[in-house]
Amino acid sequence: TARILTSEVFKFFENADVRIFLYLFHPQTGQLILVASEGSRARTDPAEAGPPAGEAGDVFDRWVIQSQQPLVVTDTAGDFRFEAKDIDGRSAFRSLIIVPLHSAHQILGILRLESDRELFFNTNDLRMFATAGEIGTLALDNARFYERLVDIALKDGLTGLYLRRPFLLQLDHAFAKSFPEGLSLVMIDLDHFKEYNDRYGHMAGDIILRWIGNYLKEFSSAHGILACRYGGEEFCILLPDVGETAALELAEEIRAAVEHHRFEIRREHLAVTVAIGVASYPGQAKDKYDLIHKADKAMYLAKKLGRNRVCAASMLQGDA
Ligand code: GH3
Ligand code: MG
Ligand code: MG
Repeated sequence: TARILTSEVFKFFENADVRIFLYLFHPQTGQLILVASEGSRARTDPAEAGPPAGEAGDVFDRWVIQSQQPLVVTDTAGDFRFEAKDIDGRSAFRSLIIVPLHSAHQILGILRLESDRELFFNTNDLRMFATAGEIGTLALDNARFYERLVDIALKDGLTGLYLRRPFLLQLDHAFAKSFPEGLSLVMIDLDHFKEYNDRYGHMAGDIILRWIGNYLKEFSSAHGILACRYGGEEFCILLPDVGETAALELAEEIRAAVEHHRFEIRREHLAVTVAIGVASYPGQAKDKYDLIHKADKAMYLAKKLGRNRVCAASMLQGDA
């Protein structure tokens, strides 16, 4: 959305020697980040960015953010509001317009237009640019809202992991491809979790679930795989192009990490454990449903054998 906005607004000035920049505040860190730019010597890579790119923008950007007002500077060399020492000496621009991107509750960022020539912009340009900023803010707000909505629909609120339904869709996609190593499914269930809830309360139980969710999120993004909260205290990981042996190793890594973590709850250092079942396709399962079924069965075998362990579907006997 930011890129389209920037290039559409730039079209109005395309024949002129101008540059346009769109900066947005990062929703989490609050840093001002250059997200799109067009024109001669456009700065697209923040690492290479000359002034005014950077965390807080330059003196003009800060003025707009602080005052929350549009700014027109007809000649940077002769504007009494800004001292020469505050203006980055490397910058070639002589005139500029900056408008704040105001949404209902906050300022999302700024839209900036600059030219190397003095007295380059007039009030019409400002009016047009301010309108573009207002329309652009609506579009950016909508895009963020949509992103949030998708997140809420697809992800579990407590752990931030994918919910079961989107996970199963991903499993469908994985089954539509063919992998040399096939694919594996890892089913994880907390051991005696009801007792933790009963003894330490539901809030404590949630702390444990949240930690495991975070751990699995990091684990899965490190391995480029997908984790989900399959049910209350059950988690599931999809391993495309991973056969049984490698899947068992990854499962064992997860089991050990959970066992060794300590949760500080009511001044006690608690440990929890998980039972894990692993099944692989096409080795132990004939289709998607069978893969889930076998991973589940293997997980129950791990419970039966004493919990805090990993079992493979290949260990199941008879008509499992
Ligand atoms: P097992 O070792 O056989 O798996 O025993 P368990 O106690 O873990 O299994 P059981 O299925 O009896 O209990 C699961 C518990 O998980 C019960 C439920 O209260 C708890 N649980 C499910 N979802 C949540 C949640 O979102 N928050 C909290 N705190 N607890 C949850
Ligand atoms: Mg359990
Ligand atoms: Mg369970």
